[in-house]
Amino acid sequence: MTRVLVVEDEPQLVRALVINLKARQYETDAAPDGATALRLAAAAPPDVVLLDLGLPDMDGIEVIKGLRGWSRVPILVVSARRTSDEKVEALDAGADDYITKPFSMDELLARLRAAVRRTEKAASASDDTAIVTAGDFTVDLLAKRVKRDGRDVRLTPTEWHLLEVLIRNHDRLTTQKQLLQEVWGPSYATQTNYLRVYMAQLRRKLEADPSHPRHLITVPGMGYRFEQRPSPAR
Ligand code: CA
Repeated sequence: MTRVLVVEDEPQLVRALVINLKARQYETDAAPDGATALRLAAAAPPDVVLLDLGLPDMDGIEVIKGLRGWSRVPILVVSARRTSDEKVEALDAGADDYITKPFSMDELLARLRAAVRRTEKAASASDDTAIVTAGDFTVDLLAKRVKRDGRDVRLTPTEWHLLEVLIRNHDRLTTQKQLLQEVWGPSYATQTNYLRVYMAQLRRKLEADPSHPRHLITVPGMGYRFEQRPSPAR
């Protein structure tokens, strides 16, 4: 059974969520504030977290950071905040997805299923293989080797780290800030020019046509996405 932790301070919304989740065979826990959420998550680790950002005792972002200290549980933010800055902040802190209130229950349940599916897929991928093939290049995440058309490609440690982070988040947006913080460190969070330079280098080494990348995709103004199998429309 999938265990969902609902972190929300509006009793009516909690009730509606719990009824709908239980009807679909989810096990649920509910926390009305951030401190309770962190305590419940530690006591009975959930499979997915639905998180309101406006909580009475702390900002939901702090809950994300608290969970991310020890857990990779998928976190779906459910919030009335709607500016893209706020969404980016939540995603940067480690949320997996974002849905704006008011929302339809069907959409929320679909996003929830997708979040759970992604972690299941990631878990099984890390169990049986660490080799990712995209186009004409192959990345062995354990051996830290990249081959293109059967030949070794030399990557610098920075290029490698960047590629590794993108592959780990495959098919999802990784924000500029996430990449800069993870690869270069917290004080580099605004140095987006580094990303442009290193992404160009990676594309030159890996993409068949570096000016029309099919796997190392730019999401303008937001970040980058690794697509193992590019959509045919592109
Ligand atoms: Ca609230």
